[in-house]
Amino acid sequence: MQFEILAKCGTTRARVSRMTLAHGPTMLPTFMPVATQAALKGLTSHQVESLGITLMLNNTYHLNLRPGTAILDAAGGAHEFQNWRRNLLTDSGGFQMVSLSSFSQVTEEGVLFTSPFSGEPTMLSPEESMRIQHSIGADIIMQLDDVVSSLTTGPRVEEAMWRSVRWLDRCIAAHDASGRTDRQNLFAIIQGGLDERLRSICLDEMVKRKDSIPGYAVGGLSGGEEKDIFWKIMSQCTAKLPEDRPRYSMGIGFAEDLLVCIALGIDMADCVFPTRTARFGVALTFSGPINLRLKKHSTSFTPIEETCPCPTCASQMSRAQLYHIVSHETTAAHAVTQHNIVFQARLMAGARDAIMEDRFPAYVRRFFSTYFGGPDDGYPKWTVDALRSVGIDLLEGDPGHKVILGNGAKWEYSDRL
Ligand SMILES: [Zn+2]
Repeated sequence: MQFEILAKCGTTRARVSRMTLAHGPTMLPTFMPVATQAALKGLTSHQVESLGITLMLNNTYHLNLRPGTAILDAAGGAHEFQNWRRNLLTDSGGFQMVSLSSFSQVTEEGVLFTSPFSGEPTMLSPEESMRIQHSIGADIIMQLDDVVSSLTTGPRVEEAMWRSVRWLDRCIAAHDASGRTDRQNLFAIIQGGLDERLRSICLDEMVKRKDSIPGYAVGGLSGGEEKDIFWKIMSQCTAKLPEDRPRYSMGIGFAEDLLVCIALGIDMADCVFPTRTARFGVALTFSGPINLRLKKHSTSFTPIEETCPCPTCASQMSRAQLYHIVSHETTAAHAVTQHNIVFQARLMAGARDAIMEDRFPAYVRRFFSTYFGGPDDGYPKWTVDALRSVGIDLLEGDPGHKVILGNGAKWEYSDRL
């Protein structure tokens, strides 16, 4: 991997960089859409590429179950299998020990899963995770970590953190022995729950292994914890991670979360939210999310967003048509998914341009003012606090906005309108 920092924000910790992998360059910060089963729901690989996406995710646990490594090996890897020519990242399968906790059991050896299809037990060890990810052949592969829900407390959090460090060493050994380190880049995952002391130990341990680690992820967040704790842990991690390595926040997808994370120094993020919410009829726009299932759109003959270059908006597909088909035609899921992926990409490209021109704070302030722009809206308090910690005052010159308490994820209440 080649990782070059091209510009740094003069105020915050945001930066623009170029990460060149085996399947070409990807400009950072970037948002990575999630193609869990080697297919982004609703779009072909060719369509995803034509939207300008240069890096997306596949899921190791799911690809190992189906189609399985024998078929992936026969195809020549997951790029070939899904006809994807750009960069690919795979998670390690570790997250499924939280999402499928009733089917899994963690030991020092690895995670024992019960197949939901056959009932057969499968051991996912660090070595096995590396073996599967080598068959998949993704440009970025993730260490197997011992993941606990961010709501877990007590000694289990410390146990999982130390085990993640030990499993990182086993992943490094297995990956180094594979002879694939020139094409596949192993990322470490910082764990330690919501405990500042444990995060600090994990950071020290994993940064020590920097020579074997081309990039770092912050894991174990975005699982329903208080946003006020989320951003403080994220900030603690980005402050300590090496400057010359890309930093990836796992499971982050709301626009406001992305901009806060970028301001704190994050380069990459992924989440199923933009594509999942599209299938439920919610389109993301710079004026906030809109729920196309609401009757008010039945007579709206304008595109989702006039200024959007996505194929859905550019072809003038109207909100009225989308309202008409949104809950029962796959066309609507396809159309809104394309739009939402382009929205995320525009948000990130706008951030990159602003950092390059050293006007990132103004970009963030303007985004928040428009996105949370309704007369009764305000900014979520945690975003105001998080951005203030890196020198952006959202309320400066914008006294009309009330700070709202709580999580304040705009799509949540927009969705209920
Ligand atoms: Zn659009």
